[in-house]
Amino acid sequence: MMRQQALDILKHEDPFDLLVIGGGATGCGVALDAATRGLRVALVEKNDFAEGTSSRSTKLLHGGVRYLETAVRKLDRVQFNLVRDGLLERDLLLQNAPHLTRRLSLVTPLYRWYEVPYVFAGLKLYDLLSGKRRIGHSRLLSRRQAISRFPGLKAEGLKAGVLYYDGQFHDARMALALAMTARHHGAVVANHVAVSGLVKEAGRVIGAELTDSLTDERWTLSAKGVVNAAGPFVDRIRALDDPAKPGILTISSGVHVVLDKRFAPPETGLLIPETEDGRVLFVLPWEGYALVGTTDESADASEHPQPAEEDIRYLLRHVERYFNLQVQHSDIKAAWAGLRPLVADPKAADTASLARDHVVECSASGLLTIAGGKWTTYRKMAQDTVDQAIRCCRLEPVKRTCQTHRLAIQGSVGFREDGAERLQKRSSLDSDIARHLHHTYGDQVDRLLDFLTADGARRLVTGQPMIEAEVRYAVHHEMAVRASDVLARRLSLLLLDSEMARKAAPRVIALMAEELSWDETRCQAEVAEMNERLDAGV
Ligand code: FAD
Repeated sequence: MMRQQALDILKHEDPFDLLVIGGGATGCGVALDAATRGLRVALVEKNDFAEGTSSRSTKLLHGGVRYLETAVRKLDRVQFNLVRDGLLERDLLLQNAPHLTRRLSLVTPLYRWYEVPYVFAGLKLYDLLSGKRRIGHSRLLSRRQAISRFPGLKAEGLKAGVLYYDGQFHDARMALALAMTARHHGAVVANHVAVSGLVKEAGRVIGAELTDSLTDERWTLSAKGVVNAAGPFVDRIRALDDPAKPGILTISSGVHVVLDKRFAPPETGLLIPETEDGRVLFVLPWEGYALVGTTDESADASEHPQPAEEDIRYLLRHVERYFNLQVQHSDIKAAWAGLRPLVADPKAADTASLARDHVVECSASGLLTIAGGKWTTYRKMAQDTVDQAIRCCRLEPVKRTCQTHRLAIQGSVGFREDGAERLQKRSSLDSDIARHLHHTYGDQVDRLLDFLTADGARRLVTGQPMIEAEVRYAVHHEMAVRASDVLARRLSLLLLDSEMARKAAPRVIALMAEELSWDETRCQAEVAEMNERLDAGV
């Protein structure tokens, strides 16, 4: 299988030009950038691709409306540039991965008259900063128009609304698509392989000690350059290089809850411009549910961070405040937390005011660390990192300049909006299944259809469009080796609806057991791991 092939190469065929540590947005982006310049690249991820922060985002491709407000208030050029760069990258992703992205309209409800011109002017400025890449025109909505766009919105006291546009994307699948595209361009990528130490010679980092997280097998890999893209764990990798060095990260935890779809219409999101502690909050349509987030609390790096009860209550409180609908704890379908790897600014009073910008650091021994940024800007972060790696590690790429501005991401070739209808006609699948497959796999859908045997079209769980063939496909073509790889990131069911995931788990495990020849002990270990994930809130 694909992962085994990758491990064989990683064990026997070095040296590489670059070893990338971390398979989140940042690491997968770096591997793709470097591979498309003709460098020989290895990427290792200690868990699964996007198992960390990169599957736990709000899933918005944005310049950052809140950063724009800070930019205006403080006349801060850095923040303006951040917003502009984000909007440029938003546009590139919408073009390079149309199957995993879409334009989303958002309503901002306003309950005080004086807010109307302020918010409208701000969102017009947001349009202006997008320049030619604008994806829609912001406009004022009357009270009635705001409610018809977002039924359920509290009408009492509502003065008006502002409609604006941003991008929405499937974060976990995007990271996977980046990893698979990097692989297509020659990178060797492996999940469930950890860097457990750095190898040095004459004071320079020349490789790393790797450990297969599933078998504990260890070996070393040589590389001319090592890129630390470990997200919230970058300081731990920096400590392997130089234990005396102070950390550069400030970590902030953000919680989301997923509610029933009655809390968000399918095509429109809601931006709550000011929460009780002065933040913004989103209620977004997401895969047939409503995604509500997020919070911002300082935290430490940890695997699988748990959503705090207090944060969940905070989110529900705000939903109640802005909705005519009653919301109860039992309405929660799933809840999860993610850790923002923000670059530390010792002068910042709280994590919300830290710029989501990125830094690339090259240590005295040549270890490159990329930290900060946001999902939307992963491509630019990767470009800056590889540019610096070429200088810092004296690499000789085939192409010196970045190749990813207009690079098709796996699944995107020939994508058509009406593709789901065409797929339905030629495969006789139900329309919701055809739509789900079209937007999940794009141009790869025919490879998935190869797994459509008699049972393959069967739904994994009633009421969901995910089918059994996807599990077999994930094992053969997407490096899934654990049930949670499939349920949390290839299909995202675990992050959408824990009860549905619980119901689907036995069948997913049975299918994977067939494909991967698991024995009874391994199946039981998978059941235990799934239960742990489900009980802990992913
Ligand atoms: P990660 O995704 O955490 O990846 C780092 C990886 O490194 C992990 O998978 C980890 O397992 C691996 N790793 C660590 N140590 C090792 C080791 N020793 N060996 C091998 N692998 C290792 N951005 C947006 O643009 N839009 C949004 O809407 C948005 N919303 C957000 C909401 C929340 C709540 C949060 C927390 C963030 C949000 N972001 C958003 C920011 C965005 O999600 C992050 O900037 C991005 O995902 C960070 O990616 P990363 O690859 O740096 O980190």
